[in-house]
This record gives sequence, C-alpha cells and structure tokens, in this order.
Amino acid sequence: MKQLDRIYLSSPHMSGREQQYIQEAFDTNWVAPLGPNVDAFEAEIAAHAGTAGAAALSSGTAAIHLALELLGVGAGDVVFCSSLTFIASANPILYQGAEPVFIDSEPETWNMSPGALRRAFEEADRKGRLPKAVIVVHLYGQSAKMAEITELCERYDVPIVEDAAESLGSTYHGISSGSIGKFGIYSFNGNKIITTSGGGMLVSNDEQALKRARFLATQARDPALHYQHSAMGYNYRMSNLLAGVGRAQLQVLPHRVDARRAVFERYSQAFKDDQGFRFMPELEGSRSNRWLTTLTIDREQTGVAIPELIGAMAERNIEARPVWKPLHLQPLFAGVAYYAHEENDSVSERLFESGICLPSGSNLSSSDLDRVIGCIREQLKIASGLRV
Ligand SMILES: *Cc1c(COP(=O)(O)O)cnc(C)c1O
Repeated sequence: MKQLDRIYLSSPHMSGREQQYIQEAFDTNWVAPLGPNVDAFEAEIAAHAGTAGAAALSSGTAAIHLALELLGVGAGDVVFCSSLTFIASANPILYQGAEPVFIDSEPETWNMSPGALRRAFEEADRKGRLPKAVIVVHLYGQSAKMAEITELCERYDVPIVEDAAESLGSTYHGISSGSIGKFGIYSFNGNKIITTSGGGMLVSNDEQALKRARFLATQARDPALHYQHSAMGYNYRMSNLLAGVGRAQLQVLPHRVDARRAVFERYSQAFKDDQGFRFMPELEGSRSNRWLTTLTIDREQTGVAIPELIGAMAERNIEARPVWKPLHLQPLFAGVAYYAHEENDSVSERLFESGICLPSGSNLSSSDLDRVIGCIREQLKIASGLRV
C-alpha cells in the first residue's frame, strides 16, 4: 500500500519573499551576525509588539536567558515559572544558578493560575524569599490571565518575563502578546508560527536594557580598539541572513494567524457533537494565534486513550503529540516546589493526561485535515465497538 504523505504537527511555511531578502544580503555581502536586516527586523518586531525596542537573538531560549540576566537573577535566587510548558522556559533559570518554583495552570486558559501564584507569593513573602522574576508562558498561543497576574506581581514588586514563544500574533485586550511584562520573548524556531529556521527576539520598553542585551549577546565587548571585556558575555546574536527570512515571514503573520485559526475552527466543528471532546478555550478579550490546536479527550466518555490515538495516527503518517509534560513532573526538576491550582487539584497534570496537539500548520490542505479528522473518527468507532 502506498504510504500517504506525512502530515506534520507544524511545519515551516515560506511566503516566497524570503529569498529576496537573502539575495540582498548576499549582494551587499552582509553575511554576518548583525547588519541591515537585523536592525530592520528589530524595528519591525518592536512596531508589531508596540514596544520601544527589540533585540534579535539566536533563539527564544537565549532571549529568556538574557532577560533573567538583565533582571539580576543569580545563584540562590528564586524564579517562579509556569509548569505546563516546554523545558526551554525554565532551563535559563538553571543557567543562572537560580532555583525554579513551578506554578500550575487554571482551566480557562491552561496557563498560570493566579490562585496558585498568590499562594506561592504569600508563602515566599512569609519566608522572606520573594522571587526575582516570574516567567509567564502563553501556551499554544493563548494569553494567560495577565490582568490578575500583573496585579499580584506589582503587589510584590516582582518583574514579569512573558514567554510568548508560541503566541506571536496573539492579542490580550488588543495588546500584543509579549508586550505587557518587563520583558517579552519570541521564538522563530522551525515549528513556530513564523520561522527564521532558528532565532529569537527580546522585546521591552526599557531601551537601556535592550542595549545591554545586545552588548551581552556579542561577547560583552567593551568600547575599545583592542578586545577588552569587563563582563561575561555570550554569542547570542541573530545572523543578518536569518533576519532577512524573519522580515519576509513577519509580513505574512496576520495570514498565518487566520490560517491557524481556520484549522482550529475546522477541528472544533468536526467534533462539536462528540461527548468528551474539549478544545482549548479562548479567554474573553483575548485572541489566540491558535499556534497548535489542542484539546482534551476524556477516556471514560470516548474509550480513546491519548497514547494509543497518537500511535494510530503515526501509523497513518500523521504527527500528533501529547500536551507538554508539566515541568514539576520532569526528572530534571525532581524535588522542586510546585503550587497547584487548588490544594488538591493539579490542572496541568489533568491536561497532560488527556491532552493532545493536532497537526495545525498554516500550510495544511483541506484534504490533510480530512485525513486527520477521519483517522480520529476511525479510532472513536473502534473504541465504541470495543465497548458494546
Ligand atoms: C519554542 C519555545 C521556546 C524556545 O524557543 P527556541 O527559539 O527554540 O529557543 C521557549 N518557550 C516555549 C514555550 C517554546 O514553545
């Protein structure tokens, strides 16, 4: 039997104009980490985000790392971080020798629970160990409850780093995701809504801090003719070639958001009458880029277990994956403090057990989506047959 083409979870989607920017860079020999595309891409992202500036970096992880460095996070400090996220949100806490404390999700956004955050703050305050920063993730494009989270962080005077790696193009009460905290970060990794193949961006209204970020990202070289260094730096700048790809990609971002939202709409319509299917909600007042269509499937109600479903899809050459495994369950973070949404209710653990991410690329065809939907239907049928 002929194997059907592979359907990916989220594959790069070029606009066709990327080559033009790369060609220009070649023609002018700006094949370097720095150059006119980097400056322009920074200005264009800052304009999109509505921030005073932006610093183009080699990855989203590098952007989180520099944000923590700029906030003075160091050995022995505590940093609060969303638990339900990709490991890259928290690894930079370890780079700085600091200690993470993980905060659960709440059901309306799947993101940081303000209730859990409040309890974590109260306890930290009692112990006299307030965090140096709070990293809030906007999972799969959905904004966290920023009003509540910001109010708590302001009460304790702790700055927010918004991990908007997955939410570029999303808005919260009309404001760009990533522009609310002291720092915001974006990722242009190959699977994100727009890509430079690899890259990231740090955004902020603090231009002095961004200047320092660019300095630290180029080996912290002092202004002297000879190579002089008085601080420890990194090699974290974005290349001028890749910034060119990013500029072309950013121009089509609104179309990519519309396409991903249409994918979400298609799936949610297809299963709207099925008991036990719950799609990731969209918080009132926010607009998600629907980077990945995610939902939970109740095993009791449907007879379908997520690992088996993902396996069955893989057999049909369709890539799906579980929702992120919460960081407080990762072996790397064994023993780390964790605050659940309610004392005896860990929302992120439930989402992990019953959650699935479906193929969501902006370049999926209608027949690709039919194949995915058909495959899930087939599994539902098998499961219901087993149950009678
Ligand atoms: C992709 C991602 C990152 C890291 O971005 P890179 O550019 O791959 O370093 C950080 N946080 C989240 C939530 C992500 O999905």
